[in-house]
Amino acid sequence: MSRSVIRIVEAQRGHEGAGFPIRRPFPTRALAEVDPFLLLDEMGPVDYGPGEAKGAPDHPHRGFETVTYVLEGKMRHKDSRGNAGALGPGDVQWMTAGAGVVHSEMPDDAFQRTGGRMHGFQLWVNLPSRDKMIAPRYQEIPAEKIPVAKSADGKVTVRVIAGESMGVRAVIDTRTPIVFQHFTLAPGANVRQPISREHAAFAYVFSGTGEFGARTVKQGEVVVFGEDGDDVAWSNAPGSTEPLEVLLLGGVPLREPVARYGPFVMNTEAEIMKAFEDYRSGRMGSIDF
Ligand code: FE
Repeated sequence: MSRSVIRIVEAQRGHEGAGFPIRRPFPTRALAEVDPFLLLDEMGPVDYGPGEAKGAPDHPHRGFETVTYVLEGKMRHKDSRGNAGALGPGDVQWMTAGAGVVHSEMPDDAFQRTGGRMHGFQLWVNLPSRDKMIAPRYQEIPAEKIPVAKSADGKVTVRVIAGESMGVRAVIDTRTPIVFQHFTLAPGANVRQPISREHAAFAYVFSGTGEFGARTVKQGEVVVFGEDGDDVAWSNAPGSTEPLEVLLLGGVPLREPVARYGPFVMNTEAEIMKAFEDYRSGRMGSIDF
């Protein structure tokens, strides 16, 4: 039996970092989180002229993981541990902030000169209390290494960032079992994706219109599934004129207290205070190159 749809919530528009436009499925007043996920931002899509692109200058994180998935444009990142790299279309960066890292996420220099379209996602995955202070870790996976599966009828394509779909396994290593998959459905296509009973799951429709059971879900809406089935299912209506693009996320809820303030997510207020103190006193490092 497929899981029921328990909620459909519209993403909220806003700005992040130095002022780039986002659509935020959560956290919003309507939907605080989907444990173990703390935040999902769709960055853009936005068309920048030369010199106009904006990013997120140096800022810290502690206590969770940030996952960046770029669809269009090019971002450059640097961090306090000496890592640097660029993320282009289809590339994924899975950063385990753990005990703390200071990083910057900025438009790549060449992209900044020419301008162009920026579009992508940032997901925050909470860490269990036992892992909040682990050493930071980066996994950077170029687009060509992200496994892709196609349905037998050729109407469904899935990029498997985490978990397994249509017999294809992700290459990213996650602290707790996670599903992070990008599905593209041609008109008339159906998906039935198994999801473990222990997982909470949601889908975000970012292009086109989806049919989830009897519910119609538009671009910019998030679907929260019940925990009453072994798979999730949806389709792109046969009469549709455009592809349907969906991110499917699933993870095992941590069911721990969440104390969050800006870039820090811990279990208690005291741990948040300590995070600010450690950041201010330079214990999370700085970007010196
Ligand atoms: Fe960040």
